[in-house]
Amino acid sequence: MHELIKNYIDGEWVGASRSTKNINPATGESLGEVVVSGREEALKAVEAAKRAFPAWRRTPAPRRGELLARVAIEMAKRKEELARALTLEEGKTIGESLGEVQKAINNLEFQSGEGRRLNGETVPSELPSTFCWTQRDPLGVVALVTPWNFPVAIPIWKLAPALVCGNTVVLKPASITPWTAKIIAEIFETAGLPKGVLNVVFGPGSSVGQTLVEHPDVKAISFTGSNEVGTKLYVDAAATLKKVQCEMGGKNPVIVLEDADLELAATGAAQGAFGSTGQRCTATSRAIVMSSVAKEFTRLVVEKARALKVGDGTTAGVNVGPCVDESQFDTVMSYLEIGKREAKLAVGGERVGDKGFFVAPTVFVGVKPEMRIAQEEIFGPVLSIIEVESFEEAMHVANDVKFGLTSSIYTRDVGRVFQYAEHIETGITHVNSPTVGGEAQLPFGGMKATGVGAREMGRTAIEFYCEWKTVYVDYTGAKRTTNIY
Ligand code: NAP
Ligand code: MG
Repeated sequence: MHELIKNYIDGEWVGASRSTKNINPATGESLGEVVVSGREEALKAVEAAKRAFPAWRRTPAPRRGELLARVAIEMAKRKEELARALTLEEGKTIGESLGEVQKAINNLEFQSGEGRRLNGETVPSELPSTFCWTQRDPLGVVALVTPWNFPVAIPIWKLAPALVCGNTVVLKPASITPWTAKIIAEIFETAGLPKGVLNVVFGPGSSVGQTLVEHPDVKAISFTGSNEVGTKLYVDAAATLKKVQCEMGGKNPVIVLEDADLELAATGAAQGAFGSTGQRCTATSRAIVMSSVAKEFTRLVVEKARALKVGDGTTAGVNVGPCVDESQFDTVMSYLEIGKREAKLAVGGERVGDKGFFVAPTVFVGVKPEMRIAQEEIFGPVLSIIEVESFEEAMHVANDVKFGLTSSIYTRDVGRVFQYAEHIETGITHVNSPTVGGEAQLPFGGMKATGVGAREMGRTAIEFYCEWKTVYVDYTGAKRTTNIY
């Protein structure tokens, strides 16, 4: 249970006139209350971030990096507590939560080093006695709008590069996972972040989020979430010429060729499809399998799906937690019905228990590439198996969706691995390993309808959060005597 969760604005914990319950999806019980803010609180947060910006931008970048290093240490101290809050409000298992918190710590560690590497370049001039360099400038106030499925790692992998570059931030976390966001703000406070540099406002996307999107003092928005919301946000933010980064949905394939280690492939597909209850943007949702090995691959995946224990993520031995809320549960259940009409159920396909939002790990066979379950993001523990006759057909099917986040291939043929890497249309891909996961020092993000704007994580993360400034210095007055064209 938690106390009333308040907004964190200008270094103060402030209330709002309304509040709502934070529900545990495994039990349906309330964990406590969280404020429901609106436009007014969002405006105050932007003002606070704007006031804090001049001093934060003047703080030397290595000092900003050191702050992130202290945040990493504070987060490590509170790792168990943060993981438990994450499991209670989002539903994933404790093991998955601990993994997510560690990923956040890894991102803090990596981005803290950027404070000492925030270099530009010196570039030769075509003019005599002229020195040219480039330097990075922060953007100003940036807004971060984040989803519920990774409510620790995603805010952190945006916050760390935003802050190290010298921006100040308003974070609008997903409404249904406020507890983790509150703990994150407390950790930054404990680590000594100056007031106003990070502000967190709890409230609906339609009011708090939309105010940030329209606010002329917000210079950039980094968004992770659904295509529906992201597409509208991209359009609306253009009116005030904001820099925008959107990371959205996926329909991630795993290709299984005839020479694959089938046990390894089935294990990877099951981990990718059912881990985190399928509620990952990187979840495996399609297995594209050569027909000669499809029967054996299906047998293995079905066996693994059956072996998984579904239940409350706080209970030892549970592998698959609940869907995050009733709305997500209803969406998944409706896709199970669509799948039963379109294709053939191999395992699962139903609710587990009569309390909480649990769904059995589900595998459909006889799926055709054009079916809805093969094209639309379900965001639940559901895998569709599509049979193909050739490598070329497998590549075509893999790419024939609107999304392009991640993918995987299982084969021992090195030539095919390189052809695959050349032609696959996803921002991240894996060979002989599951579609999920991403390390802090490597770029993360998608192509096609999955993503617009620069990549997150790794060294590329800072590109979104900086402006380039180009400086020309004529140190003898040479330009006065030279023909400039
Ligand atoms: P969502 O419904 O799009 O919400 C994302 C965030 O946007 C939430 O904070 C939401 O607030 C806010 N929002 C809603 N309407 C808004 C508006 N008009 N203006 C500004 N903000 C608004 O997504 P979700 O259901 O939380 O997350 C699941 C989706 O995220 C999936 O599609 C998944 O694939 C995607 N995802 C992508 C990645 C990636 O890196 N590609 C990673 C993780 C998740 P409320 O919570 O108040 O509605
Ligand atoms: Mg939502």
